[in-house]
Amino acid sequence: MLNIIIFGPPGSGKGTQSARIVQDYELVHLSTGDLFREEMSKNSEIGILAKKYIDRGVLVPDEIVLAELQKKAGTLLSKPGIIFDGFPRTLVQAEKLDQMLKGYGISLDMVLSVEVPEDELYKRLMGRGADSGRTDDESEIILHRIEVYKQQTFPLIDYYKQQGKLVAINGLAQVDQVYLKITKALNFYIKTREILSSVS
Ligand code: AMP
Repeated sequence: MLNIIIFGPPGSGKGTQSARIVQDYELVHLSTGDLFREEMSKNSEIGILAKKYIDRGVLVPDEIVLAELQKKAGTLLSKPGIIFDGFPRTLVQAEKLDQMLKGYGISLDMVLSVEVPEDELYKRLMGRGADSGRTDDESEIILHRIEVYKQQTFPLIDYYKQQGKLVAINGLAQVDQVYLKITKALNFYIKTREILSSVS
């Protein structure tokens, strides 16, 4: 099993990179943003609730996010591995994820942190806003989402550094080049794990 988190500010390209990782490593993709957008398109109770936060560019409260995650937990664990995309975004979520995985007897293998400077994020998101159709890809909201990331999500870098799981990826390059760096990190990890298990 390979359980990873792809982590990064809005506009860092984590969604694009996740899609490739999912295909090549046959992982289940768990994007909390996608889950909420799906609920919003169905106009479900949770979708209507989440929209109130998403449209303002603030985080959906932890209890709601964690309840959504819990619903998916069973199906996820029957697969060869998971890539968490856009989750966790707070310390509470990270701790809960650790606990949940531990309860299933599994753990996180790696946290890929895609790093992109702030001015570039803003440029990318403004460009995406024109054709993404996302209600939160709009100038003021974008600025706010980046601010929320800095205050509430960025501190998770230290949390995962302390666990020795963080791998920084320079996201300021073409999609293919960024992906190459990601695959190098993942393949190295997988190979090392194989060697270690064959000698133990
Ligand atoms: P994303 O597609 O990951 O950029 O998420 C879009 C929006 O959904 C975010 O700006 C948040 O409002 C909300 N959201 C997604 N994932 C989370 C999460 N793990 N915790 C809180 N809010 C979230």
